[in-house]
Amino acid sequence: MTSIDEQLIKTEVEINKMRKAGSVNALVLEEVKSMIKPGITTKELDTAAETIIRDHGGIPTFKGYPGPYPYPATLTISINEEMVHGIPSGRILKEGDIVSVDCGTTLDGFIGDSAFTHGVGEIGKEKKRLILVTEQSLYKGIEQMLPGKHIGDVSAAIQDHVESHGFHVPRKYTGHGVGKKMHEPPQVPNYGVPGQGLLLQEGMTIAIEPMVLVGTPKTRVLSDQWTVISADHSLTAHYEHTVAVTKNGPLILTRVRDEKN
Ligand code: MG
Ligand code: MG
Repeated sequence: MTSIDEQLIKTEVEINKMRKAGSVNALVLEEVKSMIKPGITTKELDTAAETIIRDHGGIPTFKGYPGPYPYPATLTISINEEMVHGIPSGRILKEGDIVSVDCGTTLDGFIGDSAFTHGVGEIGKEKKRLILVTEQSLYKGIEQMLPGKHIGDVSAAIQDHVESHGFHVPRKYTGHGVGKKMHEPPQVPNYGVPGQGLLLQEGMTIAIEPMVLVGTPKTRVLSDQWTVISADHSLTAHYEHTVAVTKNGPLILTRVRDEKN
């Protein structure tokens, strides 16, 4: 095993720490999801998220994250054509919007990273279909997270599911290894060829995150230098889990779990 491979492999103790961070992250997302309704501002959701993380002894991973300027919030909240990295603000959620919420929690030095998309009030059939296909593509990717498979198997499973429903995946934004740092190797594109790319091995921990666009795969960044939107302003959605490759199959680390386990 090369030294680069060694960095990618976590011990059982480390994976357990990631489960704890991931569990807090999942609690945050559950609470934020329950707060999504017409009239609430994205800043209110962000404040609630930070409070929950700090009450559990954690640190919001995204806050201060290096970029064009340090990321200013706990969550990224991306509405409608905004795909990822939307900055919480005084913007008020409206009936019929679809909202993607992404969060990272650092606890005891390890990170959980996960995301979901949810409708505000009543949303139409096509918006529901976009959200469902995106969520399904996440689980199609996770199913491939087995020792002996390759990154390309994960990528292709996501791409095939999304494109078979007439939607698109971006080329520039990918899933990633995660552990003590939020972005570790390898990158996990949402498109690819089965059997290609890095071999998956027991102990790898990866954030799988399908991003889906209705119109085309093209994206652009807004003048705030963080928010990524679909180039044609079509709707987008995003789901994410942090997952460990284990001999018993894929282990989702970003789920709420019992403290004792
Ligand atoms: Mg994320
Ligand atoms: Mg991520």
